Amino acid sequence: MDYDIIIIGSGPGGYVAGIRAAQLGLKTAVVERAEIGGICLNWGCIPTKALLKSAQVFNYASHSAAYGVNISGNISPDLPAMVTRSRAVASQMSKGVDFLFKKNGVETIAGSGKIASAGRVEVTDSEGNKKEYTAKHIILATGAHSKQLPNLPQDGKKIIGYREAMTLSEMPDSMVVVGSGAIGSEFAFFYKSIGVDVTLVEYMPNIIPLEDEEASKNLARAFKKMKMKVMTSSSVESVDTTGEKCLVNISTKRGPVQVEADIVLSAVGIETNLEGLGLEEIGIKYEKGKIAVDEYYRTNVEGVYAIGDIVHGPALAHVASREGIVCVENIAGHKPQTIDYENIPACTYTTPEVASVGLTQQQAEEQGYKLRIGKFPFKASGKAAAGGNNDGFVKLIIDADSDLILGCSMVGDNVTEMISEIVALRKEGVKAKELISTVHPHPTMSEAVMEAAAAAYGEAIHIINL
Ligand SMILES: Cc1cc2nc3c(=O)[nH]c(=O)nc-3n(C[C@H](O)[C@H](O)[C@H](O)COP(=O)(O)OP(=O)(O)OC[C@H]3O[C@@H](n4cnc5c(N)ncnc54)[C@H](O)[C@@H]3O)c2cc1C
Repeated sequence: MDYDIIIIGSGPGGYVAGIRAAQLGLKTAVVERAEIGGICLNWGCIPTKALLKSAQVFNYASHSAAYGVNISGNISPDLPAMVTRSRAVASQMSKGVDFLFKKNGVETIAGSGKIASAGRVEVTDSEGNKKEYTAKHIILATGAHSKQLPNLPQDGKKIIGYREAMTLSEMPDSMVVVGSGAIGSEFAFFYKSIGVDVTLVEYMPNIIPLEDEEASKNLARAFKKMKMKVMTSSSVESVDTTGEKCLVNISTKRGPVQVEADIVLSAVGIETNLEGLGLEEIGIKYEKGKIAVDEYYRTNVEGVYAIGDIVHGPALAHVASREGIVCVENIAGHKPQTIDYENIPACTYTTPEVASVGLTQQQAEEQGYKLRIGKFPFKASGKAAAGGNNDGFVKLIIDADSDLILGCSMVGDNVTEMISEIVALRKEGVKAKELISTVHPHPTMSEAVMEAAAAAYGEAIHIINL
């Protein structure tokens, strides 16, 4: 055998699995056909956050007088420079993983991998040369790409996907963003922040539809305040790209509407990369377009595993990474704790940010829980006031019988950094009442978590308890 483990795909699932496997003393190789680090580092999480940071700096600079800072001269966004910075950050992260591979003894095989037969991986390099490698275990971590809808065929110029959206060479005047999940909302916020006339179209009644209704409404209000057009319960039926501008035909509750835009961004979801991997030939089982796996990511074929966006569960980088660790620790004979998919945090990096874990209030109500809700608005937070943005809240959804935290929704500055506290409390089964006596540093946004727990018991100090 050439290797103990060969991993196909080097995204946050594959590269983390590779490094952990090497730490455990397993001879490991990672096959990658594009950039090391996958979508997350190169075309997803990281470059979008770099662009959003540029938008934030621009927003601060534009409102600097409110902070007592006079900036003279013309403050303007420079999209190509923002893109250059974002690409540099992505490339730095990708090189970082390459460095970690080398230091941990993980071998990289450049090319496109497929399973030739049990224990054999065939890799085709960019010149078309094929080479076969053997391994006791093969982990598939091939990720996903932007979903194509028949009425939104991406041509990469007028109707674009997320890759083009993060590398536009010039600023459009107007843009329609289709789909308001985290990706769509982040791009809509970014482009609106730097002055593009953005229309955000969402099929569901609320934007960021998987989030708590109050959180969705709060973000929609913030978007409308920045003069973004937000169309919910609406769907794009077709786009006419024959003229200079795109004519976007949208069906709404009040009838059809046509919106003119330079660019349409399709952010309607992802499709798994499962083509050409040799899966049918070895009889891999699927469930609803994803590879079926057990709690250790074993497929139905002995020695073949799958992790990340190609298996069930939320398509998020931190999920892919944890799955990679659980998968290889199990291969190494450890008994890793399996993932609790009810306790996965989800974040949207707009301003205000949105973060959540567990059940939304609506889901908890539907499931028949007797609820105790604890809510603390950032309007009452000293740190939020000092920062100049007191938009948002922390809402704890508590089971009134057991006092356990069923879920939490947060909207506001830095909440994506704060949600992990709730993840840890839920993992350990800490009761909401105990949170009240957990001393939080002052002044921080995180005090709102403690105050939200106190509010659930009518004990909050900085709001009037009702
Ligand atoms: C715009 C955008 C923003 C996002 N922001 C966030 C965020 O803020 N937070 C978050 O948690 N998630 C975010 N995501 C989702 C996150 O990027 C994915 O969930 C994550 O990258 C999935 O990891 P993965 O390892 O399964 O696959 P990927 O990261 O997709 O990596 C798969 C790799 O496999 C390679 N590959 C595929 N087929 C083969 C083959 N046959 N041979 C060799 N190599 C192959 C691909 O080239 C790719 O490099 C975002 C996604 C996008 C598109």
